Amino acid sequence: MTMSLIKFFSTNGQTESVDFKTALLMGQAPDKGLYMPEQIPQIRIEQFSKMSYPEIAYEVIKPYLGDLVSDSDLLAMLEDAYNYDVPVERVYDEKYVMRLDRGPTCSFKDYAARAMGRLIQYFLKQEGRSILILTATSGDTGSAVAHAFYGLDNVLVVVLFPEKEVTQRQRRQMTTLGKNIFPLAVNGKFDDCQALVKQAFADADLSALNLSSANSINIGRLLPQAVYYFYAHSRVAPRGEEIVFSVPSGNFGDLMGGLLAMKMGLPVQKFVVATNENDEFPSFMNTGIYEPIRPSKNCVSNAMNVGHPSNLARLFNLYGGQMDETGQVSLQPDLAAMRKDIYAVSITDEETRQTIKEAYSQYKVLLEPHGAVAWAGLMKYLQECGDASPCVSLETADPAKFPEEIVRATGINPPLPVAMARLDELEENFEMMDGQYSSLKDYLRRFL
Ligand SMILES: *Cc1c(COP(=O)(O)O)cnc(C)c1O
Repeated sequence: MTMSLIKFFSTNGQTESVDFKTALLMGQAPDKGLYMPEQIPQIRIEQFSKMSYPEIAYEVIKPYLGDLVSDSDLLAMLEDAYNYDVPVERVYDEKYVMRLDRGPTCSFKDYAARAMGRLIQYFLKQEGRSILILTATSGDTGSAVAHAFYGLDNVLVVVLFPEKEVTQRQRRQMTTLGKNIFPLAVNGKFDDCQALVKQAFADADLSALNLSSANSINIGRLLPQAVYYFYAHSRVAPRGEEIVFSVPSGNFGDLMGGLLAMKMGLPVQKFVVATNENDEFPSFMNTGIYEPIRPSKNCVSNAMNVGHPSNLARLFNLYGGQMDETGQVSLQPDLAAMRKDIYAVSITDEETRQTIKEAYSQYKVLLEPHGAVAWAGLMKYLQECGDASPCVSLETADPAKFPEEIVRATGINPPLPVAMARLDELEENFEMMDGQYSSLKDYLRRFL
């Protein structure tokens, strides 16, 4: 008999709470809500400045797992998952950029996918089960998840991506793998892909497939995304002072990791939440009225082209409100408390490009569009609210994923990281699909 310390409830409140393992393997709760921990453990951070990244990850994640995973297995998994650098670069004074792009697919999605992938494999082996991971991507999740599960014989991965809104290199990271990875180019937007995936989860005809999600709706992605906030803090504020984070936000999984870290006791002064022109959340923070943007706007920071972020259901819950999966708000969150913790700002494409240019000319710091949105957001915050220190802006992808934009803004052709060295030569394999649910269902039936 295993026993977990912390249970996970659904934000829709129509289903029973479950342990971590169940929440992880299900992804979305049966009532279409998102899982959240019933209790948030307090983490002691005094020793973190002396610890490695995997050691900090262990301290942060362990309390949620109870005895579902042995201590030594968990530490080994995390050491294996986080075998790459996590640079925290000083830009000026105490303003830093944390580069979360050194994993195998060169985006911060590797942080979540690699830990979640290893945990899922661990539990599947225990149970002798197999699953089909069905996931929607706005650009980077697909490849991170595909790489995390690549070549396993008890996992199939089907990835839906918006055909016209990912860069060639982002697409190639998904379509050049083969084996158990099945990419689908959808004629539609990310929000359409996400809606299709949600519909498949709710479809009883497909239950024999054991569908699981690897989107940021999965709690297994959220917990690892709390870790790098602790890590950054330990490196720039070893005396334990409060710091500011700037988070480039699309589906708000990254931000939820940060908020969870703060609720676990991390000293944070403010989260700057920077979106691109899909400004439904900054608008909500101004007006208290939430309106999804349909269809979402196609911006250069393409992984953030989200017109209705799934994780707002969690964010609202954390502040005492309730939002269902469609974006319907049945209980308003405590806006004053949200405004105390969060400064939300929307950055235009023009500002994004200008920021890439200026960061390079002023500081010789190469940013890509998502990291530039965060940096621009931080600069606006400092201008409006006065200086604060230290500040950490998250750079979530490698500039080489967006060569056209970088060349245009800086004249520099970003060097290709080793992980992507052969990407442009490999053969691609994927299928095209219209945005109809019946097409996805037909496609998935072949795996039954
Ligand atoms: C996914 C992604 C984001 C947005 O993260 P969310 O958790 O969806 O808010 C930002 N930058 C990059 C490069 C991404 O891939």
